[in-house]
Amino acid sequence: MDAEAKSFHAVTEVLPSPENIQHARSQLIKTLPGKGSGLDQIQKHLQNDLVPAFDRHNKTPNYYGFVTGGTTPASLLADHIAVDNDQSLMVHLPKDSISVEAEDCALRMLCQLLDFEPERWPHRTFTTGATASNVLGLACGREYVIRRAAEVNGGEVVSVADYGLPEAMRRAGIENMQILSEVPHSSLRKAASIVGLGRASVRNVGLANAAHRFDFEALEAALEEPRTASIVSISCSEINTGFFATSGDDMQRIRQLCDQYGAWIHVDAAFGLLARVLPQTPEYEVLTQGVKDLHLADSITGDGHKLLNVPYDCGFFFSRHLDLGTAVFQNTNAAYINSNAAATSSGTPSIPSPLNIGIENSRRFRALPVYASLTAYGRNGYRDMMERQISLARAIAKYIDNSVHCELLPKGNSIDNIYIIVLFQAKDENINDELVQRINATRKIYVSGTQWDGRPAARFAVASWQVQVEREMATIKEVLESACT
Ligand SMILES: *Cc1c(COP(=O)(O)O)cnc(C)c1O
Repeated sequence: MDAEAKSFHAVTEVLPSPENIQHARSQLIKTLPGKGSGLDQIQKHLQNDLVPAFDRHNKTPNYYGFVTGGTTPASLLADHIAVDNDQSLMVHLPKDSISVEAEDCALRMLCQLLDFEPERWPHRTFTTGATASNVLGLACGREYVIRRAAEVNGGEVVSVADYGLPEAMRRAGIENMQILSEVPHSSLRKAASIVGLGRASVRNVGLANAAHRFDFEALEAALEEPRTASIVSISCSEINTGFFATSGDDMQRIRQLCDQYGAWIHVDAAFGLLARVLPQTPEYEVLTQGVKDLHLADSITGDGHKLLNVPYDCGFFFSRHLDLGTAVFQNTNAAYINSNAAATSSGTPSIPSPLNIGIENSRRFRALPVYASLTAYGRNGYRDMMERQISLARAIAKYIDNSVHCELLPKGNSIDNIYIIVLFQAKDENINDELVQRINATRKIYVSGTQWDGRPAARFAVASWQVQVEREMATIKEVLESACT
């Protein structure tokens, strides 16, 4: 991996030129032709007109906008093979295709990479991304908390999946459902909307400072509310700061409270999860503490297309409750599929058919790039990749911290807290208002704009397997030197 990264020749501009975009726009085909143009013509059109107008986040390590990740060479190769063979991975048909078994191997290796025992996470599946995984987490959580409430209130088995939310809540004696979190990713509210809990069900039980940690008093008070069922959602690395919501024995305290009140714990660890590949050394202590005891959660969201550096789209989802997952996602009464029989009649240990444990029926073979990349680079390759990325983020943070023109955020932040996100502002108000624009206008690097304490702020997100610390730092220093003054 290191050799591949070193031999990589980055393009020098992170964005296409305005002329290229303008040209592509003028060439876009908006009317369905009667007689098609043919393969040669469309190839020329794609390569010559459209490709030059795409962003280059996968062509240079100097794109620090959203946490986009890139595609490792092994995952790129595997993605081509996946498309070429167009497997649908809906049902496990062991005599027809090895694809679902390969997916299962990819999920097992993923568990091993992240130091989870695969046997403890029997409900595991690939999704389209962290948003979809959050939908799965809330859907399973919703099923769990209503069942638990019904158990306590009389013993009847009440399933949201069967009755629907209003009837299930009535039978379980529940009037409110809430999602308790600190600084959740925007997609959690979207997921809450999709599963019928509503955006307003997401309640803040975080401390009022910038540390993004739980306020345990507020959490317990909320869990205690009568006729209320709760899902606790933990931000395992917050998108603006990279801060982790839990540390030390926090997960154990949360587990204990949730057991007491029948709540479900979901962890949104879209990009935080990869901190679990880091060695247990003092320099990474804050980060490894942030992902400690995640095995106590009920469900976990992870993103493949972010720090795992496999192609879009790829997310994953782990839950300890396969029975609940199957209750929610079972694709019932389709005689032509007969998925359960297929799964159990094979000689191999039964693998649940993916259509019964996730959103989609037909699914892309997004497991193959994961399978290939984990195998090609192994644990050490991924550890090295993470260490280079963190090392670059920390070098950027140090540079900003020492600069007289810029300020590292949140105020008083220390380098030990830095994961792969660096949040900062220019000290001069006028420069700060156009800081992101100035940086991105150089086209040498790209950062994203955000808000902090009511003022504009800029944010680096380091997420590419290609990162070489010294090489990238030289470019970044040059850009910041001119943009911040
Ligand atoms: C990126 C992100 C998401 C959304 O992920 P998608 O893959 O874009 O759906 C959710 N949660 C967190 C913490 C994220 O960083």
